[in-house]
Amino acid sequence: MTQSLLSHNRLWTPARVTEIKDSSSRIRHIWLKPARHISYKPGQNIEVELPIDAPARVRKRTYAIANMPSPDGTLEICVPYIEGGQATEYLYKELVPGQELRIRGPLGRFTLPDKIDKDLVFIAIGTALAPARAMIHYIFAHNLPHKQIHLIFGSRSPDSILCASEFISLATKYSEFRYSFSYSQAPNSSGQPRYVHEIYMEEYAEPRPDILFYVSGSPRMIEETVENLQRLGYAREQIKYEMI
Ligand SMILES: Cc1cc2nc3c(=O)[nH]c(=O)nc-3n(C[C@H](O)[C@H](O)[C@H](O)COP(=O)(O)OP(=O)(O)OC[C@H]3O[C@@H](n4cnc5c(N)ncnc54)[C@H](O)[C@@H]3O)c2cc1C
Repeated sequence: MTQSLLSHNRLWTPARVTEIKDSSSRIRHIWLKPARHISYKPGQNIEVELPIDAPARVRKRTYAIANMPSPDGTLEICVPYIEGGQATEYLYKELVPGQELRIRGPLGRFTLPDKIDKDLVFIAIGTALAPARAMIHYIFAHNLPHKQIHLIFGSRSPDSILCASEFISLATKYSEFRYSFSYSQAPNSSGQPRYVHEIYMEEYAEPRPDILFYVSGSPRMIEETVENLQRLGYAREQIKYEMI
């Protein structure tokens, strides 16, 4: 059983690009419809093989699945514009709807616990919001028993904030969901915190054993966050992270 599951997620599958939409000049959402249903847990990733000019082993990139599992099996990925990035340049300048790519997965263990018996605090920056978004929507859409949920999101500026309206409406609808954000490049006069660190360091200054942190972002952001949380007194087992 394990063997067949393992080999299944290593199989490449064609996936058609059904839609491409930019939510800002630097953030692109791409929807893919795989030829076979890919069963995944929210928070997991796929590998995408791109027809870029590179040897086969370096033509693939990992992307977090940004949506919760949907009945039609469509997968959404979010890609920030990274100037000069080989995959990024392809995804922004050459990929068009209708085109077919090869994907495989799911991969990764940045997923929800079987039983949510702790408060969940998601700390994410930029498009590394994708796995947190899939998990949060899944919890509410499936009415999973849960405690408090807090999303702390950091973006460069108000125009690169991702999916804000979704989280504002969740926070309006569910009293146990909170949404906080910071802008690293907004003028200081905006009154917003500049970094996600400022938010969780203040709000979770008193360590508690009943919190599970999900941290996703760049290697540097992860390193700083894990270090800060441990310095506050949180146990390493209370911190899950995904470097994106
Ligand atoms: C588990 C996992 C999940 C991932 N999920 C996503 C995702 O959801 N969306 C996504 O766009 N990418 C994601 N990535 C990163 C993705 O696989 C590529 O590495 C990324 O798109 C850059 O590829 P590239 O070929 O365009 O740039 P490269 O040619 O590989 O790199 C160009 C330059 O950009 C820098 N760089 C690479 N990634 C980033 C970044 N995210 N931000 C700023 N600078 C960067 C590199 O250090 C290098 O200097 C994920 C990676 C992992 C391991």
